[in-house]
Amino acid sequence: MYQLMEELYPICRSITGDGVRETLQILAKHIPLNVYEVPSGTHVFDWVVPKEWNIRDAYIKNAKGEKIVDFQNLNLHVLNYSTPINRKVKLTELKEHLFSLPEHEDWVPHRNSYYREEWGFCLAHRQLKSLMDAEYDVFIDSSLEDGYLTYGEYFLQGEEDNEFLISTHTCHPSLCNDNLSGLVLTTYLAKVLTKMQLRYSYRFLFIPSTIGSITWLGRNEEKLSKIKHGLVVACVGDPGKMHYKKTRRGDAEIDKTVEHVLKHSGQDYGILEFSPYGYDERQYSSPGFNLPMGSLSRTPHGRFPEYHTSADNLDFVKADSLADSYSKYMAVIDVVEHNKKYLNTNPKCEPQLGRRGLYSMFGGKRDANLYELALLWVLNFSDGNFSLLDIAERSGLPFSYINEATSKLAGHGLLTEANLKHA
Ligand code: ZN
Repeated sequence: MYQLMEELYPICRSITGDGVRETLQILAKHIPLNVYEVPSGTHVFDWVVPKEWNIRDAYIKNAKGEKIVDFQNLNLHVLNYSTPINRKVKLTELKEHLFSLPEHEDWVPHRNSYYREEWGFCLAHRQLKSLMDAEYDVFIDSSLEDGYLTYGEYFLQGEEDNEFLISTHTCHPSLCNDNLSGLVLTTYLAKVLTKMQLRYSYRFLFIPSTIGSITWLGRNEEKLSKIKHGLVVACVGDPGKMHYKKTRRGDAEIDKTVEHVLKHSGQDYGILEFSPYGYDERQYSSPGFNLPMGSLSRTPHGRFPEYHTSADNLDFVKADSLADSYSKYMAVIDVVEHNKKYLNTNPKCEPQLGRRGLYSMFGGKRDANLYELALLWVLNFSDGNFSLLDIAERSGLPFSYINEATSKLAGHGLLTEANLKHA
């Protein structure tokens, strides 16, 4: 995942344009991604797909002809979606188009102007303060024309048509935690799940934030009733602890699942209530859809100082953190895949487990007594009303123990699957 992030880092992405196409082409080497192109001017709900933005070069030259700000060194230097310009400007005018961060003098901020036509540059505050009162050559070789909004989608059919939606945004230039970490983690989840026998169908979306999810929702409204669980992937590579932002419903199966996984992870974590601010969960959770979409991240957006600055780079994201986030996502998927309801086939008093060799079955395990306890919990609560996750929560045991006990009991004919109706 880290190597893929290194490969994607230099590309100048935006909500539209060739940077997104190049990114999706690289991801398509790992997973069979379908790429969709939606024309500028397309109406999607209350929005319109914007003009396509592309950039080739940009710089500011001083009076000696030296490039003092250069897009080729760092693509954050240009205001994302900047209109083209090629002329001399005085410092006072130039300053109206410069963005810096006084609180972090050496970092370059990331700024965009998607919905207002403007030109501009971003630079370190220390450099901005040192600019002499003189004339500067400003040059931005960009285009803002009718074109397309590009997004990627990968659908993986499972045994059921019910879906788990995993969505990540593709629109950030050279920024790692927000959001190359999400792109690489989603790609590797898709890659691994492709090789697995799955109960749910999985849909992976690689979309520009806001306008991308609005566009996808507008084009796929008939599919939405199939979405039973969903996660928005963002900020999964920093060294901070995991955070889960709940769905708008607040009590969806995905909420219970992620909270269970984090509670039994042995690590500190945070739970955040839903708010209509953040990433694309805002659109998925609008009242007309109210999809069960949570967001599982490490440090949430805006809560780390490096957020939307040049310091959110390859040093800020750690391979270990990416791996840890990946294992949490896989643990969540494992619970959702196996969270079914069962019926005890011998509900009048306990079946005799010793006679069936079930007590000695866990003899080699360190927590043999907990597995034995799990057998009793599963038998007692498998009356068709409680899912395995309900039983895990009620017993205080990790889901994996309950799941393993279930498969042993089912193997001895003591459980049958109840018809699970999705809420
Ligand atoms: Zn962002």
